[in-house]
Amino acid sequence: MKASVLEGPGRIALRTIADPAPREGEVLVRVTHTGVCGTDVKIFDGSIPVRLPLVMGHETVGEVVGGDIGSRVGRGTRVLIDPTLCCGRCFYCEKAQTYLCLDGALMGRDVDGGFAELVAAPAKNCHALPEAIDPAAAPLIQVLTTVHHAQTLARIGTGETVVILGLGVTGQLHVQSAKALGAIRVIAVSRNAAKRRLAEALGADVAVDHGADARRAVLDATRGLGADVVIEAVGRVPMLEEAIDLVRPAGRIVPYGIYAEREARFPFYQLYFKELAIVASRAAPARDFPASIALVREGAVRLDPLVSDRMPFTDLARALANMTGGGGRLKIILEH
Ligand SMILES: [Zn+2]
Ligand SMILES: [Zn+2]
Repeated sequence: MKASVLEGPGRIALRTIADPAPREGEVLVRVTHTGVCGTDVKIFDGSIPVRLPLVMGHETVGEVVGGDIGSRVGRGTRVLIDPTLCCGRCFYCEKAQTYLCLDGALMGRDVDGGFAELVAAPAKNCHALPEAIDPAAAPLIQVLTTVHHAQTLARIGTGETVVILGLGVTGQLHVQSAKALGAIRVIAVSRNAAKRRLAEALGADVAVDHGADARRAVLDATRGLGADVVIEAVGRVPMLEEAIDLVRPAGRIVPYGIYAEREARFPFYQLYFKELAIVASRAAPARDFPASIALVREGAVRLDPLVSDRMPFTDLARALANMTGGGGRLKIILEH
């Protein structure tokens, strides 16, 4: 099969490699669409170390074509693949926190993933997609699972005021998910006017710039108290300072971004003084896949407006270069 193979930091080549051989319990999936993620960029440039050569890609949609076809997924089923692999026996697996498995792995980082014509995956990781969901946007559901997981851990509930800092792909999903979970007010924050307009179109009650505008919007909406929950979806530690400023005493902060900084300024005293809970999250448990698929099928979360580019999967190197270009780009979908 053809695959985009990472051969060294910054080096990707289209190669013909052996078809994956599904083991017991695994199915073979013919990949139709994948999403390119910021994590792929970090693997590509070497800031997340991996064993090489590697086929990246952890947002994968395709059609089951072979392998251990049983009761769970039949041949021809269109599926979204949960990329977190687990042992099924350890402390975390027994608690259904399979994504924290002590012997786990992420497809596309630790083992080969979806940037290829075919991929092998455990049948239990393959979630059937309803006809109504556009397969070209469906890789975004993997991202939605991580958003849904973070918001579930943060116990976002009915009647709450939620602030989303950063309105890239994950921020826009956080806006929609918070509304779906019953938040009465979602305040979306970004420097980018186009992204603010999109957030309002997707359900944010108001979208404002960082800094004084955000502060005023939050205090006005909460009788001067601050937000119940602030989700940091930019992935930069200085944003956590704004999050701590905007949250009310006894509120929750969700540092959803993946932080590369090793040192930063941080208002530690406010953790104590405002009695804040910091709710971090990583990946998502299996149960968030059917839950997220349902949110999209019901129309509570819209994915199509988040796809900004479509490219052939053979153009992965160009897609990764475009990712670092910044600007108004949202999700790049690769067509296989
Ligand atoms: Zn990702
Ligand atoms: Zn395990």
